[in-house]
Amino acid sequence: MRRDVSSDFIKKLDVEKLSKLTYIPENRIIGAIERKTLQYVHAKPELFRFDKPISNIEAGTSVFLEPFDIVRGFPKISRILMLHPGVAKHFSTIKTVLVEEKMNGYNVRVALIGDRILGITRGGYVCPYTTDKINDVISGDFFIDFPDLVLCGEMVGPDNPYVPKSFYDIESLEFFAFDIREKITGRPLPVMKRRELLAGYGIKSVRLFGEFEVSETHIKVEKIIRDFGKTLNEGVVIKDPDMQLSPIKYTSSQSNCADLRYAFEFYNDYGRDFFFPRVCREAFQSVEWDEDDTQRKERCHRLGESILLPMTRTIENRKKGERIGEIVQIRIKDLKTADDFQDHLRLLGIDAIFEEPISIGNEFIIKIKKINHSTSDKTDSVFKGEMWS
Ligand code: ATP
Ligand code: MG
Repeated sequence: MRRDVSSDFIKKLDVEKLSKLTYIPENRIIGAIERKTLQYVHAKPELFRFDKPISNIEAGTSVFLEPFDIVRGFPKISRILMLHPGVAKHFSTIKTVLVEEKMNGYNVRVALIGDRILGITRGGYVCPYTTDKINDVISGDFFIDFPDLVLCGEMVGPDNPYVPKSFYDIESLEFFAFDIREKITGRPLPVMKRRELLAGYGIKSVRLFGEFEVSETHIKVEKIIRDFGKTLNEGVVIKDPDMQLSPIKYTSSQSNCADLRYAFEFYNDYGRDFFFPRVCREAFQSVEWDEDDTQRKERCHRLGESILLPMTRTIENRKKGERIGEIVQIRIKDLKTADDFQDHLRLLGIDAIFEEPISIGNEFIIKIKKINHSTSDKTDSVFKGEMWS
């Protein structure tokens, strides 16, 4: 039975062409479809997405069917926990690096497929809301000149249905580019070439802090992060100017704790994966920055509060009978986008309640409550006296 369903999907895909372009043998592609590692997405436009990496093709790669096209997934960026000697070791074969701001929103790849400019999220889905917004904020001229390039960037701002908290001074939702890559190969453009090209089309780039000698970058980055102070700026991404070596990321304690505060509000939905690596980051940063007793205690305090305050608040709210969920909002011109976005969330398996649209000028704001069932259920079970495990 399962084989029949799979073969229906396979018929839609030009397996031979995909194999030629990705160097994945045809039988592996077919096997991946059967195992759903290469997943058919029944939406408009129809596509297949790589749920996991296969050979050297990243998870999140999308394969469009009509017209046939491939947009490579956005590669993972490794993290260093100690600037020294992490930076020097990773970039030992080059002289200087460029340091860009790491912005905190959601990753989107923007590509021209057929005659439409689409917003593709990290997992390789086309998001109807992002697509709508991106067509508002960037000029299509870029794609007239470069139909085979993909703009990669962060969607940032308060009208953000995926990463709700935003501290940047942005009215709705904006796109900040941090990469331009070739559609099919995923090959990136050199950093300065990319920034100049984008400026020519009026497309915003993430902030550039400067070009630094590799040997002094750890000192410069420490200063940049310290200068963020109590703001929630997330961190930096350190890049080879030619983009031959892969970039690395380094983040601030403030943003680390903000992530924890968010995750522990929905402790049984996110808490576990968030917890351990973030504690390790705090420990290494504290040692590298040579903190004295007072500074270290302050860090402990911040870390502890980021975990226990949101969690106790959640438990209390549930005790009062509240449904645990996060509230996000979208801002749209056409109510149809909200319907499409609702279908999209359903496709992702997210349970969400859409409130009545609030009309503002020629736009609508819709608040969306995403329900975190796992946290509610776990809390209830503890209230009923059930064992934790
Ligand atoms: P990973 O990229 O390792 O899968 P993740 O999904 O948890 O990790 P983050 O820890 O947020 O993501 O770090 C990587 C992400 O940072 C990128 O996917 C991108 O969306 C975002 N980002 C923000 N600013 C930049 C920038 N200047 N250069 C590259 N990526 C950036
Ligand atoms: Mg991020």
